[in-house]
Amino acid sequence: MKFNKTLENINTYEAGKPIELVVREFGIEPKNIVKLASNENPYGCSPKVQKAVCDIVSNMALYPDDSMMKLQNALCSKYEIKEENLIIGSGSDQVIEFIMHAKANTNAKILINSVTFAMYEIYAKHVGAQIIRTASQEHNLNEFYELYTQERPDIIFLCTPNNPTGDAIDTQSMMEFLRKIDKDTLVVVDCAYMEYGAYKDKSKKVTPKELVEEFENVIYLGTFSKAYGLGGMRVGYGISQSNIIKELYKLRPPFNITTLSLEAASVALKDEEFVNNCIALNFDEMKRYVEFANEQKIDIIESYTNFVTLCLNNTQNSSFISNALLQKGMIVRDLSSYKMNAIRVTVGTKEQNSRFFELASELL
Ligand SMILES: *Cc1c(COP(=O)(O)O)cnc(C)c1O
Repeated sequence: MKFNKTLENINTYEAGKPIELVVREFGIEPKNIVKLASNENPYGCSPKVQKAVCDIVSNMALYPDDSMMKLQNALCSKYEIKEENLIIGSGSDQVIEFIMHAKANTNAKILINSVTFAMYEIYAKHVGAQIIRTASQEHNLNEFYELYTQERPDIIFLCTPNNPTGDAIDTQSMMEFLRKIDKDTLVVVDCAYMEYGAYKDKSKKVTPKELVEEFENVIYLGTFSKAYGLGGMRVGYGISQSNIIKELYKLRPPFNITTLSLEAASVALKDEEFVNNCIALNFDEMKRYVEFANEQKIDIIESYTNFVTLCLNNTQNSSFISNALLQKGMIVRDLSSYKMNAIRVTVGTKEQNSRFFELASELL
């Protein structure tokens, strides 16, 4: 059977291995498995969220509120924006998909960083668009601008802090870059880890309100999957001027967020204290990874997120190391598919991290 030509060279996204799979493949008991592969919040979500979701769990027969009023209001007041500036997706992944379908076709060009979130490329390929990558590992805005003037891309993706490297763009430089981009080029600023980045360094903080007020061609992306501890609930959002949001809405399937997810995200936003505590713990624990890397004499990229990227030496192989860790029940992310001899490790709880150091030092 023939399928769409655009699907021919798509490699399906390899999600972090779920615990269930390691149980099945290696016969390890779930309690002995540690997953530090998908940058989830190791402390989970606010207890208030769990309670709120339990309270409405009897209410699953009816379709969700398709206007998403409660979550819309909560996000609008947090970011001081209007409803017309906001679209909510089943993860920010879904918003990326809307963006791609709204703006790109088989002739489109998409400019992305050399090493960045894999889904940009996959969604671009869905519509048959061409991918253009920078050469630098970190976002180099001069190089972005050079490629922009040469190639005239339809969409530019900036990911700050970046996944899977953890580094972040200086916000002032980014604003200057955005001012030089013509109004017909859509710029996506993916801030999946912004809660962490902004906490660590104010000069990396991106405010969606400022973007919306100044630019008619920029969209900010946020998610509940990382700092808010709701990866299992699939809620993300895009913030931009209403002319863009209106187009994205045409692509949104009805009821794309479940009742439980809407409730969870709304309540999670109201418990900033919980999230801030998690972020503080994250950076405390991250210090141990820096020490570990120094002891092992391997490079660690300075991270503005809840994960670290450990760049291995020539004598070590990231696929081998991550596989060996997996067989011991430690799930991390091998970055060889990003052409890096590195592993990405989510900063876990104190116990999870200690376990990582113990297992990794036997292998490195
Ligand atoms: C995790 C992540 C997302 C999206 O996650 P969702 O769970 O789909 O909201 C988007 N961008 C980056 C860079 C991410 O790491």
